[in-house]
Amino acid sequence: MAQDKVVAPINVKLLLIGNSSVGKSSLLLRFSDEQWLPEDESSATIGVDFRVHKMEVNGKKVKLSIWDTAGQERFRTITSSYYRGAQGIILVYDVANRESFDALPRWYSELETYVSSSVVKIIVGNKVDKEFSRQVSYSEGQQFAQRMGSLFVEASAKTSVGVREAFQEVVEKIIDTPELWAPVAGSKSARPRPSAGAENTMPGSISLADGADGAASQGGCGC
Ligand code: GDP
Repeated sequence: MAQDKVVAPINVKLLLIGNSSVGKSSLLLRFSDEQWLPEDESSATIGVDFRVHKMEVNGKKVKLSIWDTAGQERFRTITSSYYRGAQGIILVYDVANRESFDALPRWYSELETYVSSSVVKIIVGNKVDKEFSRQVSYSEGQQFAQRMGSLFVEASAKTSVGVREAFQEVVEKIIDTPELWAPVAGSKSARPRPSAGAENTMPGSISLADGADGAASQGGCGC
């Protein structure tokens, strides 16, 4: 009898959070589609809800679903179901916009409410291509991240610098933390513990479940 067993990928849910206009959607598009929309086109077009992205980390297959707030943060609150089942959080600020950096503590307090402390966090200082108008230094960002026990990367969705590294680092740390994704002992199902029943359910009832790699991997409605 053939013994070859197809190993199911590890499902990992990542969230992008941060103030409006810091470049969350742009980072997601750059990472998953290697795409950059010119500044004047992006506001009209961007409305990404999620992307599915497959990668291999330390010999393990990983199926990432990466969720974008799709503008919810403009209303100052993000629905609690957005956070459910997340194993990694990408907190984005704009290095040329101090207000977006100063807002990070507020985003952390929201995280305290909604996600467990073991969830992996990375701070991404985006728009480093705008060096000439930088308002937050690299070391300031790095020190803050250190205080918050988070990873730190500077990036530019526009030039692509640091984007892959940001996603790679957060996923590697998740894979290094089996309690975030390993099957619950004694459970017949191989569902990751924190996402039981929730990792694919998001506001608006968009479902990523079963065979979602087709239409779903192209993201949400964008409407
Ligand atoms: P979101 O509201 O956080 O999702 O931000 P968007 O991705 O919609 O980006 C807001 C604006 O910033 C758009 O005009 C983008 O073109 C621009 N933007 C995003 N990332 C970068 C970047 O890395 N560099 C520069 N110069 N502009 C960026």
